[in-house]
Amino acid sequence: MKIVAAKQILKANDQLAAENRLRFQHRGVFGVNLVGSPGCGKTTLLESLFRTLRGRVSPAVIEGDIAGQIDADRMTAMGVPVVQINTDGMCHLDANMIAAAWDGLEGDAEQAVDMLIVENVGNLVCTAGYDLGEHLRIVVLSVSEGDDKLVKYPAIFQRSQALVITKMDLLPYTNFNVERVRGDMRRLNPDAEIFAVSALQGDGMDGLADWLAARRSAVPATSRS
Ligand code: MG
Ligand code: ZN
Repeated sequence: MKIVAAKQILKANDQLAAENRLRFQHRGVFGVNLVGSPGCGKTTLLESLFRTLRGRVSPAVIEGDIAGQIDADRMTAMGVPVVQINTDGMCHLDANMIAAAWDGLEGDAEQAVDMLIVENVGNLVCTAGYDLGEHLRIVVLSVSEGDDKLVKYPAIFQRSQALVITKMDLLPYTNFNVERVRGDMRRLNPDAEIFAVSALQGDGMDGLADWLAARRSAVPATSRS
């Protein structure tokens, strides 16, 4: 019997992720990996972000879900090119899936895509261990999930470059302590950016959009061909 260590699988994933990153850079595409629990508002955040960034970036999206294409349909309704990955039970995306999905997007029309956002499967655990080839990882936490998540799931917060606290319009109806979360994030990951938004109401979206657009511009495009 052959036993494959999880470490070896992750090493293979890291190599594929590095290849993905080069492919993105070669086309001048900035890659973002959006992670967070099911129901934290990732798709609604994307819809609001794309409205705010209209005319400033040309996004494409890879949607990761166990089943169905509800989120991909929402992106199509916004006119954003999208590929849906159905993981059929797998609880995270890996670099191999992203390579295949990017094949589908890259060949798709002559879209001048300059930002690829991967909406990962809703999960705060193993998404932390899989580099997809992104330039930036953003973790989303909604106020309705509770303010203890950074203490309970530290890895994903340590390995993200930004935290977006969502559903701020619901804050008065919860006991969520924003300052506790900000403090926990600063302890776990002092360099991370922290945003607090209501994607539905639009509050805080300008700051997030400006920051993201600036991060995209900072990535050197190897070639736009
Ligand atoms: Mg979603
Ligand atoms: Zn998983």
